[in-house]
Amino acid sequence: MWRQLSGVARSGGNVNFCRMRGLSALVQDKALVDGAWVDSSNSKATFEVRNPANGALIGKVPNMTVADAQKAIDAAKQAYESKEWRSLTAKDRSNLLKKWHKLIEEHSQEIAEIMTAESGKPINESKGEVAYGNAFVEWFAEEARRIYGEIVPSAQPNREIIVMKQPIGVAALITPWNFPMAMITRKAGAALAAGCTVVVKPSEDTPLTALAVAKLAVDAGIPKGVINVVTTNKAAPIGDLFCKSPDVRGISFTGSTEVGKLLFRNSADGIKRICLELGGNAPFIVFDSANVEKAVDGAMASKFRNCGQTCVSANRFFVQDGVYNKFVEQLKKRVEALKIGDGQGCDVQIGPLINEMQFKKVSGFVEDARSKKANIILGGKPLSDKGALFYAPTIVTDVPPSAQLYTEEVFGPVVSIIRFRDEEEAVKKANDTRRGLAGYFYSENLQQVFRVAKRLEVGMVGVNEGIISAAEAPFGGVKESGVGREGSKHGIDDYVDIKYICMGNLQYD
Ligand code: ADP
Repeated sequence: MWRQLSGVARSGGNVNFCRMRGLSALVQDKALVDGAWVDSSNSKATFEVRNPANGALIGKVPNMTVADAQKAIDAAKQAYESKEWRSLTAKDRSNLLKKWHKLIEEHSQEIAEIMTAESGKPINESKGEVAYGNAFVEWFAEEARRIYGEIVPSAQPNREIIVMKQPIGVAALITPWNFPMAMITRKAGAALAAGCTVVVKPSEDTPLTALAVAKLAVDAGIPKGVINVVTTNKAAPIGDLFCKSPDVRGISFTGSTEVGKLLFRNSADGIKRICLELGGNAPFIVFDSANVEKAVDGAMASKFRNCGQTCVSANRFFVQDGVYNKFVEQLKKRVEALKIGDGQGCDVQIGPLINEMQFKKVSGFVEDARSKKANIILGGKPLSDKGALFYAPTIVTDVPPSAQLYTEEVFGPVVSIIRFRDEEEAVKKANDTRRGLAGYFYSENLQQVFRVAKRLEVGMVGVNEGIISAAEAPFGGVKESGVGREGSKHGIDDYVDIKYICMGNLQYD
């Protein structure tokens, strides 16, 4: 299968095979600061990036220090204040983003291969992510030209009230491994469109995709210092620096609720703009009125994309009495047919979990449910013959509210099913969580559709749809799932300040 993938060769043990074969020029082994590809200032220290499917070494990247991150902030500040960036018109910035978009499109296969190698994501999904991630670059290239102000009628004569939007300055972007590219472009696209400059801290599990995409930004002519990428496997002190530095005016974070809360707390002193996209606990409700076939399609897409490792993945399936048996039966057949393996395989649908921590969490949650008398009707075990990080697609029914599968986000290929009697019960149970990112439900009853869509305590609702993310739509959560919105026209808001200019004593007559 590797032969079909041009950019990355099959790993033959502990070698940096991308570099050795010289196959993908996009695989970088340096970080990007002030337009230069640099090593860590700590004796050129590096950390390894391994393929979760087989443990093979893919590359090494600089293990940057707090001092290095400070240099990146300084570079971003200097770039923000420089004529090369500040004096660009919105159209100029839009054009640069368009060039970046074009280069990403041209290199989409290579980026997808790097992504699959470091994240384990099936190659078709990686290609999908490159297209999805690039849609944000295109969208924000377009939005760059529509960051409008206002002229508001004044209540006083000889006065004009002018409102304009200005970039906040330097933004720090901290991103996770589950969407190694899209989480960066969704933030950086908006920031650059607004006229900000950025320091990106990608996940330690997936720095190569981040560096590849940054390389294309450099090639697109985005001025030096506008995008900086700091790679590290010691995120906490660098996160702390972002929170404390007066030169960082905003932080955008996608990741765990725990780290999100920490960043929120630590940036309080500096009254920073903060956008947090945190974990969810998405309900997926199948009403008696649903088209069950469509509901099963939606369940498969929502649950098994990226091996269940997305924050909008359905986490708790609530299925009404009347369609319960039919739904479970059909779903079981579909789950049994999933193709599992190394994501490089063209027909693979389920890859490995990203790392050991994630693997332990998923298997621990299933064991917890087992001990609480839930029924494991499919899977429920590691697939050691495939690799150390593979876990069988699993269906658990009769999940009690005390189980971790019910209360927490599993982030793995595990379907938890809970039976319900009526709409009231389903909505109450769906909302019985401190999280509120996405929610899904299937119903062909128009009255029910509006009732339930309004009552679900989430930031995003999929009605008869299992995959809802799009560059044009606002992505974000309520409750402890976060603050701020990404994508859509609202995605710009976190990167601009509103300035009111009062024009007084105007002589009109
Ligand atoms: P996940 O469980 O999805 O890996 P994390 O919240 O641990 O979620 O990681 C998401 C991103 O946050 C990664 O880039 C990671 O390196 C970074 N990160 C982890 N801990 C901290 C921290 N204390 N401060 C700043 N960033 C952090």
